[in-house]
Amino acid sequence: MKFSQVIGHQEKKQAFVKSVQNGRVPHAQLFIGSSGWGALPLALAYAQFVCCTDRGETDSCGICSSCRKYETLTHPDLHFSFPFPREKGEKSTELLPKWREALQRSPYMNLMDWMQVLDAEKKQANIPTSEIRDILKKLTLKPYEAAFKVMLIWLPEYLGKEGNILLKAIEEPSQNTLFLLVTENTEKIIGTIISRTQPVRIAPIDQDSMRDYLRRVPDMDSEKLERTVQVAQGDLRSAMQLLQETESPFFEIIRYWMGLCATRKMHAIVPWADKVGSFNRETLKGFFLYSLELFRGILVSSYTDNLSTWSGNEADFILKFKALGLTVTQLEVIIDGLESALGHIERNARAPLVLTDLSYTIARNMKKL
Ligand SMILES: [Zn+2]
Repeated sequence: MKFSQVIGHQEKKQAFVKSVQNGRVPHAQLFIGSSGWGALPLALAYAQFVCCTDRGETDSCGICSSCRKYETLTHPDLHFSFPFPREKGEKSTELLPKWREALQRSPYMNLMDWMQVLDAEKKQANIPTSEIRDILKKLTLKPYEAAFKVMLIWLPEYLGKEGNILLKAIEEPSQNTLFLLVTENTEKIIGTIISRTQPVRIAPIDQDSMRDYLRRVPDMDSEKLERTVQVAQGDLRSAMQLLQETESPFFEIIRYWMGLCATRKMHAIVPWADKVGSFNRETLKGFFLYSLELFRGILVSSYTDNLSTWSGNEADFILKFKALGLTVTQLEVIIDGLESALGHIERNARAPLVLTDLSYTIARNMKKL
C-alpha cells in the first residue's frame, strides 16, 4: 500500500517520509487510533516505504520487487500477528490467506469485521501464547531480502499478560527489525509494552480528504455526501456503513440517544451532545427533521397499529418505544422540545447546549407516570 492510497493524514505521511530520509527509523512504534481512521493502512504504507528500493520524494515507488510483494502482502520479511479465536488454530500463520484477503478488501476493518471473515462473530479472540512463541521464532530469522524485517502486530491489546514474553524482543530487537504495533485502545495494553514503544497518534480522517474519497462512490449526490461526511466523523468504516444502510444515517444516533435518556445515563449525554453538536448546521437541521418524523411516527402508532411508511429497524424502534407506555402528553412534550430545538439551531444557538437541554426534557418525559 502506498501513502497515496491512504486517505488523509498528509502531515503524518510527510513526517514519516522525512524521518526515513533522515535515517531515523524507530525500532518499535505504536500506532494509536480507531480502525476506521486508518492506523493499519498507514502502518502498512510506512513499512512499504521503509523497504522500497526505489523510494520517491513523497512515496514508495509501487513497482520495485519489494513494493510488489508488499502490495500483495506476501513479502517474506513482512510478518503479521493478530487476534483470532482458539477454535481457529494455534498460530496466525494458519490464517494468513484469509487475513491477506480481508486486509486487501478493507484495511480499515475492525476486529468485528475480521471475526466475520473468520465466521466466528460470537467467539472470543486473543493472541495466545502459542502465537507469541511463534512471533519470537519469526524474530530470530534474518531478513530474506529487504533491509528491514517488519513485525506488524494488530491489536496488541489482545496480548494480555503473556505479552510480557515479547518485552525483551521489543526492547533489544535483533538487527534491522521493525515493530509496528497498531492499537485501538492503549488502556488495555500492558504498560510495559507501551513504555517500550514510540507512540504515533492517528487522528480521525480530515473532512476534505473524506469528502474527496466519498465523492467517487457510485450514486453519490451532494446532500448524501455532506451528511455522510458529517455523521461519520472521520471514520471511513462508519461512512461506508452509513452508505449501505437503508434507514436514515441519523437513525443509530437517535437510537443510542434514546437509550441514554431512557436509562438516565446523563454523564454520557455531554460527550454525545458535543459529537452531534459538531455537525454543520444543515446536517443538524436534517437530524432534527428526521427525529421529528420518527417521533410523530411513535405518536401516530399510539393511536393505531398501522406503522404506515416505517419498516425494518425504524419500525422496530417505534414499536419498542410504544411499549414504554408513554402518554400522548409526554410524547407531545418531546415533539415540542424537538421543534423548539430545531428553531434554536436555525437561529444559530450553540448546538451542544441545545442538545443537552433537550436530553433532560426527554429523559424527564420518558419516566412512566
Ligand atoms: Zn518500491
